[in-house]
Amino acid sequence: MINPVASRFAPSPTGSLHLGNLRTALYAWLYARARDGRFVLRIEDTDRERSDESKITELIDDLRWLGIDWDGGPGRDDGTGPYRQTERADRHEAAFARLLASGQAYPCYCTEAELEAERQTALRQKRAPRYSGRCAALDEAGRARLTAEGRPASLRFRMPRGSRLQWTDWVRGPQSFRADDLGDFVIRRADGTASFLSSNAIDDADMGITLVLRGEDHVANTPRQRALIEALGLTPPEYGHLPLLVGPSHAPLSKRDGAMSVRGLRERGYLPGAVANLLLRLGHSGASDGYHDVAQMPAQFDVKALGHAPAQVDEHQLNHWQHEALARTADTALIPWVKGRTPVGAEAQTIAAIRKNVLLVADAEAWCERLYGDLPAPDAASSALMAAAGEAFWVALMAVAEPTYDNLVEAGKATGAKGKGLFQPLRLALTGTLEGPEMRPIVALLSPATLHTRFDAARQLAARCTQRNAT
Ligand code: GLU
Ligand code: ZN
Repeated sequence: MINPVASRFAPSPTGSLHLGNLRTALYAWLYARARDGRFVLRIEDTDRERSDESKITELIDDLRWLGIDWDGGPGRDDGTGPYRQTERADRHEAAFARLLASGQAYPCYCTEAELEAERQTALRQKRAPRYSGRCAALDEAGRARLTAEGRPASLRFRMPRGSRLQWTDWVRGPQSFRADDLGDFVIRRADGTASFLSSNAIDDADMGITLVLRGEDHVANTPRQRALIEALGLTPPEYGHLPLLVGPSHAPLSKRDGAMSVRGLRERGYLPGAVANLLLRLGHSGASDGYHDVAQMPAQFDVKALGHAPAQVDEHQLNHWQHEALARTADTALIPWVKGRTPVGAEAQTIAAIRKNVLLVADAEAWCERLYGDLPAPDAASSALMAAAGEAFWVALMAVAEPTYDNLVEAGKATGAKGKGLFQPLRLALTGTLEGPEMRPIVALLSPATLHTRFDAARQLAARCTQRNAT
């Protein structure tokens, strides 16, 4: 049987996910789902100092929010666990033991200071810094002597001397590195912990991962990791290295771009469908035009349509998809946007009234403030329009006993107002702007007392204006 497709997302829980990480996760998931394969979420928590339990909870929540699920990972077992790298130490050890036994790994006794001096020399001589291989040729006696000196040893992988390491990257095409340029790398640190290079590669091989999609910052790791996996007698996965995402100013998106972190976007009200549709097009040209539900996206993903130019995150595009996603979202899902900002019980009705006029949480908050809080002071043009309606018009509206929209319009018409001369002042008095939701539901949301107060403010404007004209 051929190797079934499996891909994975392997975040280090040292910070919050940004759009670039989320795109990697989405693409890896889409690839697995499109091929009926497995998708694994592996938490690379080996950097114990910088890993944070709350970041794990957060990233799981962010992935679920987008609609990504996994066959193997926290809370789900496909038989390839554990899914936390720190719980896989025995597997890493077993691999190291095999490499040591076959001579493909060797202890390195160099101290940090010695390695640093080597690096400095290389830099001075304008050579790429890499490990000199000083400990590669030590014999048993030499090792015993250094051990006796009390030097702790790390473990290094012996790169295959004189060979070329080649593979075809799914995004970047054919890649070729000279093993001798890369140098022997640490697989187990002197403190006994597995390095990123080794644990990440061993886990991929162990978990039967067939395609690794990850950021292009890892390209130079791949020849080392492939060589390591081959030395263990296992088949390396295929690799695809995604280009970086850049922000509006063409600078790479970083964890510091708070507003572009997944958390930041969620807090602002961006919907998962909006973010997913944006990501589907960032450096991937395989999807047909138009909005796609996340559940339908696997059919829209073509791993051969990944581009390798940096992809630019464009807020206009994001807002376009937000608009599309909003149109497909039920009122009830938007209630959190107005919760606590409306009279109790008026949340759903408020959302229904304003939803065509909002894109993000801040817009909803601004509408709640306009409806239930204070109106901004009218500008000159608005004041003029409200004054022009005349005091009698406002007095008539204030006198309506049951102030429904129809009753107010009828009362306004009875004073001789019509068309724009009726609807614009009414809208301005109640919402402070000529742009906005339909007035019928707005009137229904405002209490009779509020209606009265707002008509009265407009009446006073008109009265002041009449006085000014009279004098
Ligand atoms: N933990 C690594 C990272 O977050 C994983 C890289 C990879 O996907 O192989 O960068
Ligand atoms: Zn050494």
